[in-house]
Amino acid sequence: MSTGYMGKILMVNLSDSTIEEQDIPDSVYEKFLSGAGLGGFILYNNIPAGADPLGPDNILGFVSGLLTGTGSLFTGRWMVVGKSPLTGGYGEANCGGNFSPAIKRCGYDGIFFKGISEKPVYLYISKGKAELRDAGHLWGKDAIETEEMLIADLTEKRKPKVACIGPAGEKMSRISGISNDLGRMAARSGLGAVMGSKKLKAVVLDSAKTIKTNNRNEIKDLSQKCNKWVQFQPWFLSGNGLRILAAILRFLPIQTAMDGMLWKFMLRKWGTIALNQYSSELGDAPIKNWAGSNLDFTKEKSNNINPDTMMKSEVSKYHCYSCPLGCGGICKGDFPNGETHKPEYESVLALSGLCLNDNMDSVFQMNDRLNRAGMDTISAGGTIAFAIECYENGILTKKDTDGLELTWGNTEAMIALMEKMIVRDGIGDILADGVKIAAEKIGKGSDKYAMHAGGQELPMHDSRFDPGFAVHYAVEANPGRHTIGSQMYYEMYRLWKKDKSLPGIWLMYRKKSKYKVTKKKAIHAAACSKFVNVLNGAGGCVFGAQIGVDRVPFFEWLNAATGWNKTPADYLEIGKRLQTMKQAFNIKHGIDPKSTKPNVRALGQPAMTQGANKNRTVDLDKMISDYWGQFGWNTNTGKPSETEINFDQE
Ligand code: SF4
Repeated sequence: MSTGYMGKILMVNLSDSTIEEQDIPDSVYEKFLSGAGLGGFILYNNIPAGADPLGPDNILGFVSGLLTGTGSLFTGRWMVVGKSPLTGGYGEANCGGNFSPAIKRCGYDGIFFKGISEKPVYLYISKGKAELRDAGHLWGKDAIETEEMLIADLTEKRKPKVACIGPAGEKMSRISGISNDLGRMAARSGLGAVMGSKKLKAVVLDSAKTIKTNNRNEIKDLSQKCNKWVQFQPWFLSGNGLRILAAILRFLPIQTAMDGMLWKFMLRKWGTIALNQYSSELGDAPIKNWAGSNLDFTKEKSNNINPDTMMKSEVSKYHCYSCPLGCGGICKGDFPNGETHKPEYESVLALSGLCLNDNMDSVFQMNDRLNRAGMDTISAGGTIAFAIECYENGILTKKDTDGLELTWGNTEAMIALMEKMIVRDGIGDILADGVKIAAEKIGKGSDKYAMHAGGQELPMHDSRFDPGFAVHYAVEANPGRHTIGSQMYYEMYRLWKKDKSLPGIWLMYRKKSKYKVTKKKAIHAAACSKFVNVLNGAGGCVFGAQIGVDRVPFFEWLNAATGWNKTPADYLEIGKRLQTMKQAFNIKHGIDPKSTKPNVRALGQPAMTQGANKNRTVDLDKMISDYWGQFGWNTNTGKPSETEINFDQE
């Protein structure tokens, strides 16, 4: 009997409205875990090669983690998987909140959709019964209105949990995401567009099935020990103190390895916005569409996004399901509901430093508007920055922009452009599918300003600051993601504490050594990918993982939940299998692994002549080849061998 996982999925065919339960053998979970692992397994085996991501053959899966609902901590994330309309390959995004346990409480590890509905519908599962319902009255509503209307209509004993799209997903913007918990977003990969293409407005879940575990007492003991690490919170620096610290660190020739406890202190106090000024000063935050530096987004400008200043409008904090840390916040202000989510660091920098916008109120407003529209804030900010650079260089003119003066830091023009992208009006229609497609349509050499990897807009961590990001931007089957690995992430995960075959790290090292290509770094990068596959199979939060696996015991929780007796190395071997499966998915769908490298500007080609990342370049080709070697794939092509590609159901 399965414990930890539910052992079933639901497959909904939107073309003929059939709904079918499918049993999943235990062997699948043992080999691929649940969550994104199970999701990837279903996609790999069921989406035909060359399927149109916005056509009926694409499959969209909403999956919960193996550890979700077991009493373990930091394990309430749900994942959406599908063929990405943004990259053309494997697509995945995840989000916190309370939607993940609701999937399992309906009796499933995942709910999958294929086909296309004739008219807008939503899936409603209540008391274990699944049905498709008309969503005509919801079509056109924003994501928060949609969730509020569904909750008002369907609340009985409990409030149902809702995942839905806004107008951006309905209009099949390839940078649209899927919202839950009133405006939180599984944003990356453009999977909101897949939901829109299927005319699936929402998934509404309300059931109360029991989630069984093999050894709940052991899970509880492990969780109590872990919680002690999380609750330890000494007095900590002010927001301005962090900026000064970063300014000092920038000049030192040496660097200390990052301990995730430090990051935890920051997250607990401010949430991810702790990094706003710190990263701008240090060179971690890309500025002015990756062509600028801390000298362009000066202290005077970045002061406007100081975390302490932003926190003045926070009225309450919140936690995702099963999270003892609680990095989320609700802020009050002039918003349709009078309040909004505290923007995340990624959103703040994409809508400020990347566009040289120092108007903090506009960042709050745009973040709220994009959440409602269901558009990825990273991609939207990246696309606006691209358009500004095109305009500043005469590639776009006022005639093209319907009169908008798209100059750096022009807040009003940014907001107007964002509105056009949401409704696909004029230039907004060209930009609504992200920078790669926009550059193809605009031409005139605009591709040199298109900051993406494999079609996905780059996130707010500069690969010239930490070259480990460059590797993961390039090699992941879902490229351009910041939530998987970097040199700093390896330091924080502390995997070598659990798998003694992995190399430890020096507590202090010369900054220059970060740019040397070594075999050890390839081992680090491969370990990050493998581990995050395990994490996404478990429903784990990367911020929890960054506290360190010796303090947040994901491997031990997995054994206690399932009754397995696997070592951390066994789990990393599963992570390796999952990485190979995703790579094989991309190759099956015609993606050349060499084609997903980030724009050369992100590699310091040419090197910057001033600012925090002055003279830094990244030798990415060698790093990629070494990384592929760690998986046993062809080091020239990135292709796994035929013997490694064996993912059929057994
Ligand atoms: S650390 Fe933040 S994002 Fe992660 S589970 Fe907790 S509240 Fe959610």
